[in-house]
Amino acid sequence: MEEELQSLRAEAEAALAAVSGPADLEAFRVEYLGRKGRFSGLMRLLGQASTEERPRLGKLANEVKAVVEGLFNARKEELEGALPAASPVGDLTLPGRRRPAGGIHPVTQVMDEVCAIFVGLGFAVAEGPDVETDFYNFEALNIPPHHPARAMHDTFYVDEGRLLRTHTSPMQIRAMEQASPPLRMIAPGKVYRCDSDITHTPMFHQVEGFMVDRKVSFADLKGVLSVFITRMFDAQTPIRFRPSFFPFTEPSAEVDIGCVICGGKGCRVCKQTGWLEILGAGMIDPAVFAKVGYDAEQYSGFAFGLGIERIAMLRYGIGDIRLFYENDLRFLAQF
Ligand SMILES: [Zn+2]
Repeated sequence: MEEELQSLRAEAEAALAAVSGPADLEAFRVEYLGRKGRFSGLMRLLGQASTEERPRLGKLANEVKAVVEGLFNARKEELEGALPAASPVGDLTLPGRRRPAGGIHPVTQVMDEVCAIFVGLGFAVAEGPDVETDFYNFEALNIPPHHPARAMHDTFYVDEGRLLRTHTSPMQIRAMEQASPPLRMIAPGKVYRCDSDITHTPMFHQVEGFMVDRKVSFADLKGVLSVFITRMFDAQTPIRFRPSFFPFTEPSAEVDIGCVICGGKGCRVCKQTGWLEILGAGMIDPAVFAKVGYDAEQYSGFAFGLGIERIAMLRYGIGDIRLFYENDLRFLAQF
């Protein structure tokens, strides 16, 4: 037993000298000093020694164990002290790790650009609530109950009389209620319709614009929109105004630009016509002025509304509107 203790001590010393890291050290502790380790094994043999021998052997075993534990602790400290010395903060010659930088969403970018163009033309920017009343969204805009135009809007109703706005036009009413002419204003924001396919999402963005003053004519409308389109797209972009119908403007027009994809030759995007519809506009209907107490004999105005996603799709050649809202960073990182 005495010999075994001495050889165990020698082995432990040699094993400790070979330890080179925290994992080795832990393996050593388990093998020699652990509850099922080799020292514990020897201590159990102590029971077989004779009664006279037992105290002396027990004392020796404890001494050897204390020595090995002391060596173990010294080695542990040595290793812990050595670690920082070997790599204080890692390899300083390695290049830094970059955090991925965020970016502005393409829809927000286009929205900002549109607003900047109109602000440059002297328009003020106003924002309004997403949850609207039936009055502001429909009735004040000359769309009474049961008007067929309501069917085109696929409205999300919140409750009786309240809904998610289907267009930004309610801001015309809110602004005109609060101020007298002259007014030049744009109202960007989210709008909602119960519709979803490659060119529609249930939530999308519009910019509403309107101007009211004495002697505002259709020529002013055409001038403002022409400046906007040539700045947004290209100075050479062909523009055409097509007669249309909206309940809140009279006369009304839809505005097309020459197809930015095929240059007017005809392609799938423009359905072979060479033209792309980008916005709706018209002269504000006197019935709308009547709702806000403006005198239609004294004042006239124009209004227009455009879809931001539509412009972003044409600008960047994107075929599916839903890509804007899938939050795929591989898509978004391109802008
Ligand atoms: Zn085309």
